[in-house]
Amino acid sequence: MLSAFDSAKKQLDQVVLLLEGEYQDREKLHKAIGLLKKPQNFYRKALKIKLDDGKNASFPAFRCQYNNARGPFKGGIRFHPNVSEDEMKALAFWMTVKCAVVGIPYGGSKGGVIVDPSALSSAELKRLANKYAEFITPFVGPWIDVPAPDVNTNGQIMAWMLETYEKKIGTHAPAAFTGKPIALGGSQGREEATGLGGVFVLEEYVKSKKLKVKSLTIAVQGFGNVGYWFAKLAGEAGFRVAAISDSSGGIYDKKGLDIDEIAKIKEKKGSLRINITNEELLGLDVDVLVPAALENAIQKPNAKNIKAKLVLEMANGPTTPEAEEILFKAGIDVIPDVLANAGGVTVSYFEWVQNLHGYYWTKEEVDKKLKPIMTSAFNDIQQAVEDKKAPYRKAAYFLAVKRIIDAMILRGRV
Ligand code: GLU
Repeated sequence: MLSAFDSAKKQLDQVVLLLEGEYQDREKLHKAIGLLKKPQNFYRKALKIKLDDGKNASFPAFRCQYNNARGPFKGGIRFHPNVSEDEMKALAFWMTVKCAVVGIPYGGSKGGVIVDPSALSSAELKRLANKYAEFITPFVGPWIDVPAPDVNTNGQIMAWMLETYEKKIGTHAPAAFTGKPIALGGSQGREEATGLGGVFVLEEYVKSKKLKVKSLTIAVQGFGNVGYWFAKLAGEAGFRVAAISDSSGGIYDKKGLDIDEIAKIKEKKGSLRINITNEELLGLDVDVLVPAALENAIQKPNAKNIKAKLVLEMANGPTTPEAEEILFKAGIDVIPDVLANAGGVTVSYFEWVQNLHGYYWTKEEVDKKLKPIMTSAFNDIQQAVEDKKAPYRKAAYFLAVKRIIDAMILRGRV
């Protein structure tokens, strides 16, 4: 199997031919593609913290700044045992493409720490967050690089990081981090934004295919922030969410699930393993499969079991290029991560705008501004799917990579 970053570069290579039709100066295009195959900056440091028992521990930490031609670097911070340099580069590349897909004025970055946060106490987690913020302070800021939450990080962690950062630079700077708690300048609607954006995209897809919301069943893999909110809001929009899982397994009921009930079960039991495994969830006879956990959930061996007619990628990088080929041949559409889950970074952008103005919007205003961004990104891509006879990911990359390369050319970087 390809590494995540090799998959990302392969996805980039797949649009070069289409892009060749757009640029007279092919040499410039190829130079730009070459630059887009590596990050602009990559920072690493071992973070040393004291554990509650008095022992010292060290955790490798990274920040990858991929490309900033369209605006400041932007991307989350992940705390996970499987974080690696390769993964950081892939995720930072995907952030660059994602921001261009929805047309928000950012480049892309990603950060992470190799750690199992469930093994740390809250005090240890706070010390790790403070150390990470100290590490990145010299090279982040509202007009440089703006971090946010990602897998296993949240508003509280952003609050701890903001405090360290502001102490170091000696001034308030809420626009330096997004995904903050509302009390510290976070935006209304940021927490559910990724899920809500995914529902908007799914509704547009349903409209474009002349399907009926009420007749469609969904299986969701993942019960973190993204999986939970997507499932809950899809249910409220009229879809039937028939299955959901966490890393231990899941629950399936073809009559449909009450997501808040499921959240209560998870809280009581600590896990969601009820009547299906994660592999069984991927092969369920539903209309829409929603991977909302980690990379590489859908690979060559399990792609052929998928019975859904649509895969909506709410995780980053859940489908390997080999698996995508199999899905394509089977006539299964894949709505790519860079579109489907872009609602999160879009409301991060709204948060940053509000912080820079010191003027705050209502939840209604946020949702009203998010919807047209998601629906017009979908419709532009749908148009490119038809014009170029390309699958959704290729169409999305075609539009987005062109925007990035145009910015690189305007700046004279190539
Ligand atoms: N971590 C999220 C993502 O992968 C959000 C990033 C952000 O808000 O900057 O899209």
